[in-house]
Amino acid sequence: MDINNQNLQKLAKLSISRGVNLQKGQDLIITAPIESIPLVRLIVDEGYKAGANIITTFFTDPEITKSRFKFANDESFDRSTDWLFNGIAEAFNNNTARMAITGDDPMLLSEFNQDKISRLNKATSKSYKPAREKITQFEINWSIISWPGASWAKKVFPDLKIDVAQEKLADAIFKASRVLSENPILEWDNHNSFLKQKTEWLNNKNFSELHYFGPGTNLKIGLANEHLWVGGATTTQNGITCNPNMPSEEVFTTPHAYKVNGEVCSTKPLSYQGTLIEDIRVKFIDGKIVEADSKKGKELLLKVLDSDEGARRLGEVALVPHSSPISQTGITFYNTLFDENAASHIALGQCYSKCFKNYTKLSKKDIKERGGNNSMIHIDWMIGSNQIDIDGIDENGNSVPVFRKGEWC
Ligand code: ZN
Ligand code: ZN
Repeated sequence: MDINNQNLQKLAKLSISRGVNLQKGQDLIITAPIESIPLVRLIVDEGYKAGANIITTFFTDPEITKSRFKFANDESFDRSTDWLFNGIAEAFNNNTARMAITGDDPMLLSEFNQDKISRLNKATSKSYKPAREKITQFEINWSIISWPGASWAKKVFPDLKIDVAQEKLADAIFKASRVLSENPILEWDNHNSFLKQKTEWLNNKNFSELHYFGPGTNLKIGLANEHLWVGGATTTQNGITCNPNMPSEEVFTTPHAYKVNGEVCSTKPLSYQGTLIEDIRVKFIDGKIVEADSKKGKELLLKVLDSDEGARRLGEVALVPHSSPISQTGITFYNTLFDENAASHIALGQCYSKCFKNYTKLSKKDIKERGGNNSMIHIDWMIGSNQIDIDGIDENGNSVPVFRKGEWC
């Protein structure tokens, strides 16, 4: 394998300075797949150079993960390492920053018992909750970046030899994460100010509704009361501006769970737990999906829609121009971090509390009253293309062009 070391170094430096934006004297926790160790070592170097106090790394290994599913006793799947997650929550309480590196095999657990997987997910999710809430509430600075893992690369480029596939995936990650230019840090500063300008414009307009037109699509998405558009860099509650997702192309907000009407088609395949759902077509009435069909993966789609009460309603609406670097690669990444940044999308399920004005002061009840959806799923699917037009409906009922042929107006 021959991943360009200079580009890895640029990614490592970028992830410390603009990803987590690590502060002098701060501690950092990194979680990563074991095969990403060449990148992690570079990140740790950059972290200490930037003044980190203690950097702690946690690695996962796919064979060790599989070993539990193969050989562990049944009770194992209802338990989690509470002591570890409590410790991580304590570290976050003490202002520790967090970096996650993705790149695992998207098919890792596909051969194992679904019941065991969902029991373990549930146990882990419960025990991780105190730490996770500090992340989702932006109490600390955090960031996610990617490593071109071998199995992931094989899934994305099944016809290529593994080495070639991995190099190709690495190049796509570098391009999408904007590290190929002379000065990636400056590039990210420019990109963030572009996204900021868009969110400010949308928040000023305060549209009550977005109207989508395109082939097979005629959809009105009502926006939640007191919704807030966000995107790009985020300033956390500890006052540090970080870029939680690298790459990130979207600006997004919360739709109203009961005010979505019309029909919409997907424009890219949706990868859900390694399985593709293609050519989705759904109909909404008063926020709820009342008809759903897809050319591929229909059984899975219908199962997902019946996950719980909120699974048939929307929790996110996001705008991404068709010209985004990820879209230009034309690759299906089987990884939400990339695929959701390739096109304008909507998400079924849980909304983001940070997409409301004064979100830190809102209770779950307040969010529900404003139209925020609640569900245990959050699944993004792409509805944008170069054939989609979007209008915003302002407070006086006027239509304002937002997107034409998939690009910002
Ligand atoms: Zn999104
Ligand atoms: Zn999403």
